[in-house]
Amino acid sequence: MPSDLENLEIELSSHGFFFDLDGTLAPITDDPSAVTISEGMRQSLSTLINLTNGAVVVLTGRGLNDAAKILGPLDLPVVGSHGLEYDHRCDGPDGDPKSSGQLRQALSVLETFAAEARLKLEHKPGSIAIHYRHAPEQGEIARQTVENVANQVPGLRAIHGKMVSEIAIASVNKGTALAYLMHRPEFADRIPIMIGDDVTDEDGFEAAQRLGGSGIKIGAGPTQAMYRAQTIGSFHQWLTHLLAKGK
Ligand SMILES: [Mg+2]
Repeated sequence: MPSDLENLEIELSSHGFFFDLDGTLAPITDDPSAVTISEGMRQSLSTLINLTNGAVVVLTGRGLNDAAKILGPLDLPVVGSHGLEYDHRCDGPDGDPKSSGQLRQALSVLETFAAEARLKLEHKPGSIAIHYRHAPEQGEIARQTVENVANQVPGLRAIHGKMVSEIAIASVNKGTALAYLMHRPEFADRIPIMIGDDVTDEDGFEAAQRLGGSGIKIGAGPTQAMYRAQTIGSFHQWLTHLLAKGK
């Protein structure tokens, strides 16, 4: 059972922060393209960047361009597509050339399915997502189809999030990205804190905790994170207190 976030005491001088985006920095909306970060959260993030000398990264399932639109003028390094795409500020590892062939194989099956089921398909560099937020009754069949493709094509895995099922490269996730980024100079001698709301954040929680830090799960649901905030609002309140102490 995760402990209440109130019990987590940390120092800005010795910790680094990894944030999921949707459901963590910004509330989830019916239209994923309409997601926005509140002005208060923006200010907190920019203060956090200053007070930690830049030990802040966003780890999202979204593609980089998509994430950049939401983050707007905030100068935040981003790793997109569940750990596969690093923006220019992060200098990521080289990708595995085999994996693009495997994704292409999955793409043709999923394109046919999405067209027949009238679901939205999103092709990102490291994954293919089927969105069913506008047709939740199709969720079960979408999950099953993605699961079948993952079982048939080696090197791929299924990721089931909130109103979205994805096929992604199996060897990469938010946890591998977090562990990689901890070697960057901004994070030297810092302890990782991973904050997220969804199943895809569990790899990040696990990596942060393996490296001596903590995971913070936002909202309900099973998790291996050591701490939980009930809502984005209560997480933001905790962050605001932390920033006020750090000034
Ligand atoms: Mg999320």
